[in-house]
Amino acid sequence: MPAIAFDNTYARELAGFHVPWKPAAVPAPRLLFLNRPLAEELGLDSAALSTPDSAALWAGNTLPEGAQPIAQAYAGHQFGGFSPQLGDGRALLLGEVIDRQGRRRDIAFKGSGRTPFSRGGDGKAAVGPMLREVLIGEAMHALGIPTTRALAVAATGERVVRERMLPGAVLTRVAASHLRVGTFQYFAARRETDRVRQLADYAIARHDPALRAIDSPPERTLTFFRAVARRQAALLAQWMNVGFIHGVMNTDNMTISGESIDFGPCAFMEAYHPEAVFSSIDHGGRYAYANQPHIARWNLARLAETLLPLIDDEPQRAVERATEVLDAFPGWFETALRRGQRAKLGLLGPGLPTAGTDADLQAEADDALAGDWLDLLHQQRVDFTQAWRFLADEAACGAPEAARTSRLRPLFAEPGALEPWLARWRERLALHDGQPPAAARPETAATMRQASPWIIPRNHRVEEALAAASDHGDLAPFERLLQALRRPFDEHPEDAAFAEPAPAEVTACYRTFCGT
Ligand code: AMP
Ligand code: MG
Repeated sequence: MPAIAFDNTYARELAGFHVPWKPAAVPAPRLLFLNRPLAEELGLDSAALSTPDSAALWAGNTLPEGAQPIAQAYAGHQFGGFSPQLGDGRALLLGEVIDRQGRRRDIAFKGSGRTPFSRGGDGKAAVGPMLREVLIGEAMHALGIPTTRALAVAATGERVVRERMLPGAVLTRVAASHLRVGTFQYFAARRETDRVRQLADYAIARHDPALRAIDSPPERTLTFFRAVARRQAALLAQWMNVGFIHGVMNTDNMTISGESIDFGPCAFMEAYHPEAVFSSIDHGGRYAYANQPHIARWNLARLAETLLPLIDDEPQRAVERATEVLDAFPGWFETALRRGQRAKLGLLGPGLPTAGTDADLQAEADDALAGDWLDLLHQQRVDFTQAWRFLADEAACGAPEAARTSRLRPLFAEPGALEPWLARWRERLALHDGQPPAAARPETAATMRQASPWIIPRNHRVEEALAAASDHGDLAPFERLLQALRRPFDEHPEDAAFAEPAPAEVTACYRTFCGT
């Protein structure tokens, strides 16, 4: 078995935060997917890890040397209700490696059998949902969004019982860490303040090592909390700017690292609708598209509660200090959202010095410009991804030619309503780059196309690929889609089918499921 140079700080330093455990043996391991670029990043020998023999490793039957599998303890607010004990019910952290860039990364199984945290669950996972983790994680990564990623998926040769019998699989996931808001909640709910402190120290060493220079422990904790909040603000803005709906933003699915995690009932929006929800169990729309930043803040408030005793001995004072961070969150989010929207609008970079124009006023005007654009998409049910992408066509050629050739106008049932907005946007571009409003701006178009993907994981394409793999053992559609998702900003004609929205009636009925 090829060597993996594990260095397992979580297992070693945090006794009492996890349970040593072993993956369940499975009958017939078969490797379905190995992430070669990621293996390279981790300094692993991808050739040796993709031999038929290595399937036993990826399915959990043989453990790589140096692995110390543990099930991590965590709690979580699920749809607003608190569960004091969740934990890795079907996951095991194998250990940590230092990647080629010197970053510490977790390598963990998902679907490797029951653990002491399984409650009623079978500890198993199915092929479809685990390949879905591959597709969404790789898409997020290619889109430049912090995310956990799949290293491998192995079929187990077992059937797992869901609404119907499904082929089983084990996913190997790589993460900056698996620390969650819910990890802090687990110990805070038990009033184990020393363990919360230990966890915070661990998280700081791992994710915010520069903060160790802060001598005052309360100040250090507060600064750590602020860093987590800032990462989440940035992450949420990135999600929103690609139309991503996580679907199950429970506190156990929110990382301390700022990576996206757990792609169960997630979906990408097609026609723009702020209230879009796809998850079959999200009846109240708690995790609807536009609600996500509010939920992120709500989850951060739950994290803050766990840290209060570390922030100040005087409870009222601790609450005040944590609240300052929570109150700053919407501003951080809006700033990050605006930065992304400006890139999508072709307003990247400092632009011309706008003498006499107040930066705040310009920010307000740009927010209104982006907001009115989204209103147009909403009113006319325009595909979010295509609209942003094809806006770049408008910049590429001058106004008169764009009116004839751009792919944007045909997306609108009433393109006339778009014209005043386009004129306003061109005025704004002119203010930014000093060219006449109607000018052709090929370079601006090129930067816009780096901010607005051509390809996202379209729900119907994801489902098609997963159904072929799960129902017929045919991985070809999965591999084709994966290839397209890994180059989302380039227009390769052979990927065109993946860029097309689903028929509206398909999207209208599209539901995602948690029972993965
Ligand atoms: P998730 O919805 O995947 O984020 O999981 C929420 C909680 O349910 C976590 O504690 C999981 O470990 C647990 N869980 C989910 N599916 C299973 C399963 N099939 N068997 C055991 N535990 C599970
Ligand atoms: Mg989870």
